[in-house]
Amino acid sequence: MSDLNCTRTSIDINRQYFESNPSIIDSTFIGIEKNIVECANCKYQSVTYKPYSVMSLELTDSLENSISEYFQTKSLGKGNEYRCEKCEEKSEAKVIEEILSLPNILVFHLKRFDSRGKKKHDIV
Ligand SMILES: [Zn+2]
Repeated sequence: MSDLNCTRTSIDINRQYFESNPSIIDSTFIGIEKNIVECANCKYQSVTYKPYSVMSLELTDSLENSISEYFQTKSLGKGNEYRCEKCEEKSEAKVIEEILSLPNILVFHLKRFDSRGKKKHDIV
């Protein structure tokens, strides 16, 4: 599949969502996100699209850095492996977040607590 076809598919998905959800709430607060999970074993990419209204960010020293961190390719580590739908093997897959469209008003959620529920006092 060429890049042009990928782009056209993405535009169609975006258009399709907003045509079937024509409310002012959707057109103001909803964007479409593309989530790619790439198998480390066979490189197959599982792609899903989903509407979002909140971008949940890790807390860093600036909003710009938090947004940059959000879009960095992540790896599913040990104990959190991904089972590939193509080769059916478990692997430490890559997860890539992309934005298909932005809402007019985007809400940022800053993760002020760590995974144990403890507040990050050094920054907040
Ligand atoms: Zn695979």
